[in-house]
Amino acid sequence: MSATLPAGTPARPLRVAVIGAGPAGVYAADILTKSEAVTSGALTVSIDLFDRYPAPYGLIRYGVAPDHPRIKGIVNALHKVLDRGDIRFFGNVDFGTDLTLADLRTHYDAVIFATGAIKDADLNIPGIDLEGSFGGADFVSWYDGHPDVPREWPLEAKEIAVIGNGNVALDVARILSKHADDLLVTEIPDNVYAGLKASPVTDVHVFGRRGPAQVKFTPLELRELSHSKDVDIVLYAEDFEFDEASDEAIQSNNQIKTMVGTLTNWIAEQPEDLSELTASRRLHLHFLHSPVEIHDDPAHPGKVTGMTFERMQLDGTGNAKGTGEFVDYPVQAVYRAIGYHGSPLAELEYDARRGVIPNEGGRVLDTAGSPVPGIYATGWIKRGPVGLIGHTKGDALETIGFLLEDRLTLPPAQNPDPQAIIDLLEERGVEYTTWEGWNKLDAHEKELGAAWTAAHPADGIERERVKVVPREDMIRISRD
Ligand code: NAP
Repeated sequence: MSATLPAGTPARPLRVAVIGAGPAGVYAADILTKSEAVTSGALTVSIDLFDRYPAPYGLIRYGVAPDHPRIKGIVNALHKVLDRGDIRFFGNVDFGTDLTLADLRTHYDAVIFATGAIKDADLNIPGIDLEGSFGGADFVSWYDGHPDVPREWPLEAKEIAVIGNGNVALDVARILSKHADDLLVTEIPDNVYAGLKASPVTDVHVFGRRGPAQVKFTPLELRELSHSKDVDIVLYAEDFEFDEASDEAIQSNNQIKTMVGTLTNWIAEQPEDLSELTASRRLHLHFLHSPVEIHDDPAHPGKVTGMTFERMQLDGTGNAKGTGEFVDYPVQAVYRAIGYHGSPLAELEYDARRGVIPNEGGRVLDTAGSPVPGIYATGWIKRGPVGLIGHTKGDALETIGFLLEDRLTLPPAQNPDPQAIIDLLEERGVEYTTWEGWNKLDAHEKELGAAWTAAHPADGIERERVKVVPREDMIRISRD
């Protein structure tokens, strides 16, 4: 093959490390292997994919709600990529502790960061630190069996506020209001089922600060709310305000038109007297409510007992302004779902406001704003936590395009031998997991699902999988 290499192309494979085995990282690795440079034989690549968790799939395993099998199904496509055998997977390896940037530079010609965004964006209002005030992203991590969050989640509130009008707010509100038994068909871990089963919740209130034509969630996710058994949706006529910009959005955007249609149908079908609603739980959708303060009271100092919102009105441009009217809701828990935020990475510049690694089209920049040779970013850590999973493919294409453009000038790895990184991890006592290990854990989780199904024949529920949560168990099963 070296006879066909253009001048300057290294005769050995280009060694690339991808940090983060979620969709963004897997797409980047896959796109690189399928690039014209590689398929034409002009370039050979050798890619190692690292993740801090013992299992691959990042956001799909730890961010997508368990009752979203269609989105969880993206795993099948990612599985096919990793199962080909041309990309090595190393799980349970933490960038910043187990491996440093200097290590990666020693062993790879290029490094792509695809570490995503898993933290909750901050909401700076009084009372946000009270007991009973939670980040929606943390709750998602809990119900998705994330190995690093506590096993127990305090589900003690009867009335709950969820702040935000994006898909995460709907996920959080749906899981909080759904009856636990209706989640048994999913892969939820046993501790999550037990926690949700004991929840005394009766009312979940979702608050958007703008109007029904300014929501950020999507039609399928909205309609899905009405599929939860024994949960009534409640809407309020005074929240249905539309300004000129709303009318324009309804005319020009099919998604908005569909959602406004769904919401107006629901409110039209709702009994005027809400006491005629029959379900044991209610999911209220409020619009034009901006969060002001979370309260405790003298009988429960330090604990959430209520929340104040300012009523908003649309200003003609689709934005909302305060009316000076304040409303209180008695709630014992508050979940903010106002967006995710990235986390800084050791030895790299970080834009704390946007929660991203500063970059130009995926080329990571230094303090002076110049590209750092050989260092790239893709996915949410590149452009911020917006967009659906499929959108990260476009990101990866752009990043890989620049990497290929730069490939002849990359600072070459001093130790590109693929065995050397394994030796280093072993020398450091890192209990890394592999693709083979993931297949073992995957099979084990499926066996747990089959065992549950066999043990509960009367329930008529077929569980495909039950997730293993503790990190040490994931590692033990993978490395067995
Ligand atoms: P998002 O779509 O950006 O929604 C954030 C929401 O929080 C918006 O309604 C925003 O209101 C509101 N908000 C922001 N700051 C606020 C504040 N200070 N006070 C009150 N409200 C505030 O974020 P997300 O829900 O975290 O979702 C992130 C991405 O993941 C999205 O692209 C989403 O579609 C995707 N996702 C998809 C699925 C799915 O497909 N099922 C599931 C989960 C997530 P404004 O609009 O007024 O700013």
